[in-house]
Amino acid sequence: MMGKVYLIGAGPGAADLITLRGAEILKRAGVVFYDALVHPDTLALAPQARLVAVGKRCSRISTDQRFINRNLVEAAAKYTVVVRLKGGDPMLFGRAQEEIEALAAAGVACEVVPGVTSALAASAEIGVSLTRRGVSRSVTFATPRVGEGEDTSDWAPSVASADTAVLYMAAGQAAEIARVLEGQGMSPATPVIIVESASLPGVRQIGTTLRGLAENTDLQIHGPALLFFGEVYRERARALIAAALLEEEVADELPQRRALPR
Ligand code: SAH
Repeated sequence: MMGKVYLIGAGPGAADLITLRGAEILKRAGVVFYDALVHPDTLALAPQARLVAVGKRCSRISTDQRFINRNLVEAAAKYTVVVRLKGGDPMLFGRAQEEIEALAAAGVACEVVPGVTSALAASAEIGVSLTRRGVSRSVTFATPRVGEGEDTSDWAPSVASADTAVLYMAAGQAAEIARVLEGQGMSPATPVIIVESASLPGVRQIGTTLRGLAENTDLQIHGPALLFFGEVYRERARALIAAALLEEEVADELPQRRALPR
């Protein structure tokens, strides 16, 4: 028997942001190899399938890519429908190429089912178009992260020259990244928005500027997060900054209020 492997985009997190096509294939899957960022409710779309976690979450223990490739090839000999479920869209920072090539080399049929990439889900949360007319005509999706054994990447110029830029896998080194972008001639006043856990209940937006990002070394981000840069975010960033300041003031006043005699 020779099964087929489907590389399916699970979407950014919320289980109902997978495509109908992806959900239909999950219903027929014999086995599902899934990433760390895939929501349990999405896995519940395949109650009949054997579920195998092959997650990678930045610094945590990750499953070796060659091991995943081998598993996919072997599974295709056992199951008619094999699913490789990836966060967001498989074709963006998802290591799809390695798997597509390994499957092709083994003569296993493979099909990619697109998903909603997290930058698009986060844009929906922000409520600002990536390509707002008259302000932004280009968008860059980039990451400063390079895999083990890869050459260093020159990600910064493309970010600095785009009207709007989105950085994946970058929140952990945000301050350093901001300084690199300032070095590329990007204005310190460039509006920045950070979106954590887009489409999930814990979603959070932080507004700042490139300078603010460079100065803040502790963003307290624990979920997956994206960095957005560009003029399109000027008003939204300002509103988020004002709201955060207000919250701080209220928090500062609270103990005094409590201390007042009744
Ligand atoms: N293929 C995925 C990206 C995988 S790389 C996609 O298309 O979205 C993992 C990175 O994606 C994380 O470090 C983070 O930058 C981003 N990410 C994934 N899910 C996210 C979410 N719900 N909210 C914000 N960022 C997210």
